[in-house]
Amino acid sequence: MSKIQDFKMYINGEWVASSSGKKIESLNPENNEVWATVPEADEKDVDKAVQSAQSAFENNWSKLHPRERAKYLRLIGEQLRANVEHLGKIETIDTGKLYRETKTQANYIAEYYDYFAGLADKVEGTVVPIDKPDMQVTTTRIPIGVVAAIIPWNSQMLLTAVKLAPALAMGNTVVIKASELAPVTLLEFGKLIEKAGIPKGVINIITGLGEPCGKALTTHNLVERIAFTGGPETAKHIVKNSAENLSQVSLELGGKSPVVVFDDADQENALNGITAGIFGASGQSCIAGSRLYLHKKIYDEFLKKLINKAEKIKLGSPMEEDAQMGPLNSFKQLENIEKNIKATIEQGGKIRCGGKRSSISNKGYYFPATIIECENHNLPVAENELFGPILSVMKFENEK
Ligand code: NAD
Repeated sequence: MSKIQDFKMYINGEWVASSSGKKIESLNPENNEVWATVPEADEKDVDKAVQSAQSAFENNWSKLHPRERAKYLRLIGEQLRANVEHLGKIETIDTGKLYRETKTQANYIAEYYDYFAGLADKVEGTVVPIDKPDMQVTTTRIPIGVVAAIIPWNSQMLLTAVKLAPALAMGNTVVIKASELAPVTLLEFGKLIEKAGIPKGVINIITGLGEPCGKALTTHNLVERIAFTGGPETAKHIVKNSAENLSQVSLELGGKSPVVVFDDADQENALNGITAGIFGASGQSCIAGSRLYLHKKIYDEFLKKLINKAEKIKLGSPMEEDAQMGPLNSFKQLENIEKNIKATIEQGGKIRCGGKRSSISNKGYYFPATIIECENHNLPVAENELFGPILSVMKFENEK
């Protein structure tokens, strides 16, 4: 077994352990081995992070000219570009996603910071027309304060960038909570923040469980806005938590996206789109096309071609260049998929390929590309977001 690496959180420009000394063990999805430990933050740690963000907001960041903030954003972009391979490798161990995918994603994320750097000094107010000639009414946009960014385990660098870059550009400060299921990538990102010279307290990165850490952050009375990405069940807690501090909330949640193929479709194009849409990232994507509606006239022929394509998808170690799907992120996810497939079969669903844990490893969370025919979309695999490489297929005859 390789050496376990120990990581610290980034609060107020310093690398710190949790105040309780507690740690979370992070498992490598490829082999189910602990490869890293990170601090398990509690209410006390959350309070430190939020206080530091509030102080940086009041005394520094919100007072900088937007062009100054833009310079810092560009420096983050530069750091990202210079560290694409390292971040890609860490995210692959952290999540189980293919290195080919994580490296590519890390490469273009720098552009978000460039974009919002360009936008920072172009945020304008308005002059409101009124009926009083001696008065002028204007509107101006001002930063709001401390933003809590709650990140899921997948695409963390991207989902952090879309929250962090606009918040910083506008003059807000941020506390980022990494997912307990893949906590290391964002801590490594913290090292780049430090190298970019971002003033202390402007960006804080904490690791912990949904409760108490996420709850303490989203109920903290100094948090003005919650930017959340994750599952719908967690989102219900987030909305309730926001009632405690009356913060603004944005929610980006899960999906069960349908793909509809009519009898006159370009079949080759459709086959490629469907395969990439559900089996890319092993289906662990909020935009995965996990439900397929096939027109009756092409149903048998098209399904045969699709099964043929899915059966050839190569499962393998996520670092291997020729692997097309890596492991799932967690054992819990694998069990949830199995539970849903079992219930679907009991209700008449028919497995046409895959459907069982892969034998390529008896330790990693590998599940093959799976296609299941369903009578209707009320069957569990057609109805629930599974976050896995499972495609449910239904027949249709007309658009009604
Ligand atoms: P999750 O909802 O389990 O967790 C997301 C985050 O919420 C984690 O950091 C977790 O610790 C935190 N959390 C849990 N309980 C909390 C609480 N009570 N208070 C505050 N924070 C709490 O999601 P996940 O399994 O990490 O990610 C998968 C989900 O995310 C899927 O549903 C997927 O579709 C969705 N997702 C959506 C998008 C999008 O852009 N819409 C992108 C990626 C993922």
